[in-house]
Amino acid sequence: MIALRKLAAAQLLEAWEHGQGQSPSYRALALLVAACDEPPELQASLSIGQRDARLLALRELTFGPQLVSVASCPACGAQLELTFSTGDICAQAPDGVTEVTLVADGYTLRARLPNSLDLDALARCADRATARTQLVARCVLEASYAGKPLPAVDLPEALLALLAAQMTEADPQADVRLAMNCPDCDHGWQASFDIVSFFWSELEAWVQQTLRDVHTLAWAYGWHEADILALSPWRRRYYLEMVRG
Ligand SMILES: [Zn+2]
Repeated sequence: MIALRKLAAAQLLEAWEHGQGQSPSYRALALLVAACDEPPELQASLSIGQRDARLLALRELTFGPQLVSVASCPACGAQLELTFSTGDICAQAPDGVTEVTLVADGYTLRARLPNSLDLDALARCADRATARTQLVARCVLEASYAGKPLPAVDLPEALLALLAAQMTEADPQADVRLAMNCPDCDHGWQASFDIVSFFWSELEAWVQQTLRDVHTLAWAYGWHEADILALSPWRRRYYLEMVRG
């Protein structure tokens, strides 16, 4: 995987600012573009699993390897806290795969893995059915039945389900599931884990705290925002302790 830089406080704040009012895909890209030199258009065309693997690595650089997720039990409603590490949900993806080929029941399909641009296009669709049709139209590169070319819209549902399964296998990081078990009622289930929304909500909490600290120090010492952000977290903490007495 490409090397990512740990983001400084000012860069994190800037990425958060860029992502305001934007889609999750855009937010993910805002963070990744700040953390590596690869052109944005190249990063936007990464498969979702490849993008999420980078985001997971950046999350580890930024806030450390431990993740704490909260879920409610679908059977009894109890609140569960699950602690795991970035390594636990880091999938071993087949190297450099960007396309899948499916041959079944006389059909032959070649499709590329969905990327951030696809997700953004789907987010603008009115309903799930339209989004699904559009995803198929965007990602299926070639389709034929008994050797004759076939438009993607004519592909049967069962074949598309097989295609979806093959895509997940080729891009496992795009679909992270956590095995949950409720200690209250012993119900077990699989919960989806989305690194984009998880990382972004952590970032929001971090921004809120950081801006509050900047405010306190600027108020007390008359320092500029950039200078306060450039302080190491330890130095900043000491000054804050002194201001608060
Ligand atoms: Zn339960």
